[in-house]
Amino acid sequence: MADTHALAALVQALKGLPGVGIKSAQRMAFHLLQHDRQAATTLAQALSHAVAAVRHCSQCHTFTEHDICDTCADPQRDRGQLCVVETPADQSAIERTGTYRGLYFVLMGKLSPLDGIGPNDIGLARLRERCSGPDLREVILATNFTAEGEATAHVIAEMLKARGLKVTRLARGVPAGSELEYVDLGTIAHALVDRR
Ligand code: ZN
Repeated sequence: MADTHALAALVQALKGLPGVGIKSAQRMAFHLLQHDRQAATTLAQALSHAVAAVRHCSQCHTFTEHDICDTCADPQRDRGQLCVVETPADQSAIERTGTYRGLYFVLMGKLSPLDGIGPNDIGLARLRERCSGPDLREVILATNFTAEGEATAHVIAEMLKARGLKVTRLARGVPAGSELEYVDLGTIAHALVDRR
């Protein structure tokens, strides 16, 4: 059965992706191998290149191919505002509104005690350090409006308020339970303007 081992390994690897069950993984593997071998090779190369080239920005922790990402390096950005988001996808959602000119801190996750994800896993010590600069006027908490996102925002707010920083939260226009990357741009833009 050595000839099916490679296929089984591929299905297993695809099944590890978020939202992909065994049936979807099999469908993708069959499609790539049966109908689209060129796409399969392109995918493999792109994945391999991205893993080698992409790392975390030393300031905001988002994905970049450099030591410091383009946003952090941009002299036009307002260094007095720092927006805390869970993922690069959430950061992109806020960027697309075109209304925010400050900087970001990307947690790359959220507090989730049941999954064993604590403050160290989302870089809270680094965030605290990041918030110690003299230029910072306001920290905007833009974690998702899920139970875990709210809990994460609460912990960060307590941590930063203790240091006398102005901390605001996106307004409630964003529906409860929702993740920013799936919310329409107008709603995010309003939530930013109406933050408190
Ligand atoms: Zn950065």
